[in-house]
Amino acid sequence: MNNTFYGKLVFELSKPGRKGYSLPKSEITGYTLNDIPSELRRVTKTILPEADELTVVRHYTNMSNNNFGVDTGFYPLGSCTMKYNPKLNEELCSLPGFNRHPSTPENFVQGSLKLYDEVQKFLSEITGLSRFTLNPYAGAHGELTGLFTIKEYHHQRGDFARTKIIVPNSAHGTNPASAAVAGFQIIQVNSKDNGRVDVEDLKPLLGPDIAGMMMTNPNTLGLFETEIPEIAQLIHECGGLMYYDGANLNPILGVCRPGDMGFDVCHVNLHKTFSTPHGGGGPGSGPVGVRKGLEHLLPNPQVVYNKNKDEYELQNDPKSLGNISLFLGNFAVIIRAYAYLLTMGKDNIPMAGKLSVLNANYIKESLKSHYQLPIEGLCKHEFVFDGLKTEYGGDHTEDYVKTLDVAKRLLDYGYHAPTVYFPLLFHEAMMIEPTESESKDTLDNFIAVMKKIAEEAKTEREMVKTAPHHTPIRRLDDVKAVKEPKFTFKML
Ligand SMILES: *Cc1c(COP(=O)(O)O)cnc(C)c1O
Repeated sequence: MNNTFYGKLVFELSKPGRKGYSLPKSEITGYTLNDIPSELRRVTKTILPEADELTVVRHYTNMSNNNFGVDTGFYPLGSCTMKYNPKLNEELCSLPGFNRHPSTPENFVQGSLKLYDEVQKFLSEITGLSRFTLNPYAGAHGELTGLFTIKEYHHQRGDFARTKIIVPNSAHGTNPASAAVAGFQIIQVNSKDNGRVDVEDLKPLLGPDIAGMMMTNPNTLGLFETEIPEIAQLIHECGGLMYYDGANLNPILGVCRPGDMGFDVCHVNLHKTFSTPHGGGGPGSGPVGVRKGLEHLLPNPQVVYNKNKDEYELQNDPKSLGNISLFLGNFAVIIRAYAYLLTMGKDNIPMAGKLSVLNANYIKESLKSHYQLPIEGLCKHEFVFDGLKTEYGGDHTEDYVKTLDVAKRLLDYGYHAPTVYFPLLFHEAMMIEPTESESKDTLDNFIAVMKKIAEEAKTEREMVKTAPHHTPIRRLDDVKAVKEPKFTFKML
């Protein structure tokens, strides 16, 4: 592990005068760069590392080996959907025909616009909504777009009194954040012991100041919200709109549709459900769909097929909420989604949904003997444990083995940790999402390792509490990292 190159900055490998390149002579002047006259050369030294080619190659290769991704191992990060994304889609989205300037006139990009339109239509069919925009750049951006749609809907009716959005305490964190950014006041509705929205808690909140309600479904506990029909009826009766956070559409893909459940506005995350690797925070795409009657409110420009001309056009609707992004969003992500949808086809898409649910339930049922399962029953594509069971070190004494310790120990076994301490509903939350793309062998290995860690927590508590032991960097001091962050390397 500890070779000369490992864990060093390229500046630490630098030796004055070393270089890994040689420049050819200019075909025009016959000079090489080294012949640049001295009066034209800079006088101060550049702060660049000087290294030979092999050192540079090893440096970057070693660095890349420190990365963890779906391509290197199992990545059960709940609420993020770290599934396998076919390499074919990477090739397709870099086809030269798609490689164009975003301002290219419409008549030169008919193929791209057709693709855009077809993805919109596929999403409409999958979600049961009337029309989609693919302009938003991410899930949270889709939420913001959807909330502006709701606001615009009320304003265009002349109703300016609806300033509040209801958000359940089991919603994804971006929901209240987006509502606040969109200028709404957030009203929280609580969940029942079974993890679903409490309709009785909701009723007294309703009134003429409610613009709508956002629901994450499945919610952040991975549970399907069973009371949706009644909730949708209550919200509609009081004049509000229903918003569906469909970032995690995987479990209901091809099984049921937000539009049929009574939702008016919905966003989905192409980068979670429809291909595109998104580790490290990007790129994304958060298309927004609306029910019939709200189509004109979607952001400009809108891609529309003009039957008379047999052409795709960009239209700007004067009643639209306006522009939400430059051009047409993250187009390469949309191409990947198109490739994914066509490859899977109508017949196989429901399999993705069902497998993601089967895989999550398989892990949950296999591990609930060792980890605390706060809510029993069928989950969707993910679920939440509340730390280790009492008999496996999760006894809540002063030095009990925490979710963080389990997460760190998992790194020693070559797994990425699950999402930890989210959602906030449980003290030792550990959120696991296997996704539909993992084999039973992978799931079985993960289950075996999680059980092994639980056994270790029982018999070798100190070892687990000081994990990881086999990673390039051991356990970090989180508090110090926050209080004394160091973002730069001091070079001079
Ligand atoms: C990931 C996620 C979001 C946010 O999506 P981003 O693309 O990360 O902005 C919103 N809601 C839910 C339920 C999510 O899982």
